[in-house]
This record gives sequence, C-alpha cells and structure tokens, in this order.
Amino acid sequence: MKADPASALCLSCGLCCDGGLFVWVSLNDSDRERLRSNGLYAPERLPHPCPNYSTPACTIYAIRPRQCREYRCEVLKALGDGELDEKVAHGLVAEALTMRARVTTLLPEGTSFAGFAEDLKTGAPESRSPARLPALARFLAYRMFVERHFLSPDSHWLSREKA
Ligand code: SF4
Ligand code: SF4
Repeated sequence: MKADPASALCLSCGLCCDGGLFVWVSLNDSDRERLRSNGLYAPERLPHPCPNYSTPACTIYAIRPRQCREYRCEVLKALGDGELDEKVAHGLVAEALTMRARVTTLLPEGTSFAGFAEDLKTGAPESRSPARLPALARFLAYRMFVERHFLSPDSHWLSREKA
C-alpha cells in the first residue's frame, strides 16, 4: 500500500529523530512511565540520534513520547497545508540530507553530528578543536538551511521544546 504524502515525506527524512535537527527530546512523567513499562530506556531527555529510530522510522511509534506525537516540522506543515507540493517538499529533505552528509564526512573520527552540534551550542572546549574547523562552515550552511525551511522561528536549538 502506498504511504500517504506526509508519511512518505517523513519516511524519506528522519531528521527530527536521527540528530539532524535536535540533540534530544524531553520526556514527561507519563512518557517515561509508558516507556519503562515496555522495558525501554526512559531518561528525562532522550538523546538523538534517538535509540528508538531505525531508518526509516520510529520503532516505538505506537507509544512514542508526547513531543514526538505532536511534532511537525515546517516542511511537513506546509505540505499538509498545500503550500508545498510533494516534489518540492521531497527536494528540501533531499537537500538537507545531502548537506548534512557533507558535514559528517568532515567530522573527526568518533564525533557524531549531534555531538558536534551540541558542543558548538554549549561552547564545549571540543567545539574549538582545530580538527573540527573544516566541518564548521558546512555545518553553519546546513544549520541555516534547516532553520530556514524546517524549523519554526521559536524552535529550541537543541530540542523539540519551544525556545
Ligand atoms: S523533520 Fe519533518 S519531514 Fe523530516 S521526519 Fe521530521 S517531521 Fe517528517
Ligand atoms: S521516540 Fe520515535 S518519534 Fe520520538 S525521537 Fe525517537 S524515533 Fe523519533
């Protein structure tokens, strides 16, 4: 059966689960209880790449946290509202994935994309490491692209929470 346009877009993307947009997703008490009762890891902040994500989808979809159930990026919203057609929406996802891959290839071995993003935002000493400089310009271009197309103006830099 063919996926509906929104599902097809998310299945081709995964950026809001795999560390491409956020560094964590916050869980509330009810999320944690539900996940724990299913034998799953349930910290206050679920780090990204999310351990429950397996390309191309969430492996705990039916019991996923509240923020995950409610979240729709700006591309998905625009597709749903008819402001973007499917071809353009998929093109934006493809471009974001390509830009991120370009960053990842320049990261020092053992540095994840999400770890790189978190270190930059929090000003961790590692973020000023010379070995990471080649990735920085590409990361900033990627981040500008996703902020322009995927993230709402009040998005938190690190998580799905509002800033
Ligand atoms: S970033 Fe948007 S298009 Fe991509 S998986 Fe998340 S909601 Fe779907
Ligand atoms: S729990 Fe599922 S929907 Fe939520 S971030 Fe993880 S993989 Fe994505």
